[in-house]
Amino acid sequence: MHKLFSIFGNPVSHSRSPLMHNSVFKNLNYNACYTRTFLKDGNKLKETFFSLGLSGANVTVPHKESAYAACDEVRGFAKKIGVVNTLINENGKLIGYNTDADGFMYAINEFQNIQNILVLGAGGTAKALVQKFLEEGLHVSILNRSKARLTYFEKLDCECYTWGNFQPSHYDLVINTTSAGLKDENLPAPKEMIEAALQNTRYVADAIYGRITPFLQLAKEKGLTCKDGADMLLGQGVLANELFCNFELDKEAIKKEMQKSFLY
Ligand code: NDP
Repeated sequence: MHKLFSIFGNPVSHSRSPLMHNSVFKNLNYNACYTRTFLKDGNKLKETFFSLGLSGANVTVPHKESAYAACDEVRGFAKKIGVVNTLINENGKLIGYNTDADGFMYAINEFQNIQNILVLGAGGTAKALVQKFLEEGLHVSILNRSKARLTYFEKLDCECYTWGNFQPSHYDLVINTTSAGLKDENLPAPKEMIEAALQNTRYVADAIYGRITPFLQLAKEKGLTCKDGADMLLGQGVLANELFCNFELDKEAIKKEMQKSFLY
């Protein structure tokens, strides 16, 4: 039976997920197709998913927390963080997973001796990454524009700052998980704060892919070792595809096909 998958987001036109997953389906002869769905209202996620007849989906900004709320059952790491980026239709029930955090750990594999991390942003991606970093025993600081989103992190063993009280420290890695720079020319925080953070780090990463954000540009100008979100995208995509295909395809083959799709 032909299966249909989609990514939900707002914006969603930039997403490379359709290219990545379709490359796997086509070249590994899996009878499925992956499309994109612009979704304004996160509360409509579940009804849209089922009205489109989807077998599974990915969820991107800003609907990952709505996706968690929409699920009949949430499994694994997603349950811990309340953030879902992968949905599976299991006999008419909506099952939620999160593959972002493991995807990111895969992406920063080559960064050596990471102990102290500054996370810019406090949304769904930040939740996933921060929980993972804490599980790995790393020291985490968070800087976010609004105080409201920090409430979740204040209960965890990490330092939380808004733009009003930021105290820069020494970091091994500074990562942008905000959507600043995705569709605009904004930095994730006022320039003097970003400058202070970058002055004291070895590595820089951005969750955004497909363009050099003003944040990444600034880091590059300072000669820092940088990584955009492409490898994170690849990592989370491979893990999501395994779920979509019920582990019928070889993981290395999935990865190879997805990497190929990046060339187009
Ligand atoms: P959320 O909507 O959950 O959170 C957005 C965060 O960005 C909030 O902390 C918000 O702060 C902050 N923010 C938004 N605009 C600005 C701004 N102009 N200046 C400063 N802070 C801002 O988003 P997600 O966590 O789902 O996604 C965040 C980004 O990560 C997106 O760009 C997404 O594309 C990317 N991403 C990439 C992945 C990959 O595979 N490479 C995987 C997952 C995400 P506030 O609380 O003040 O509103």
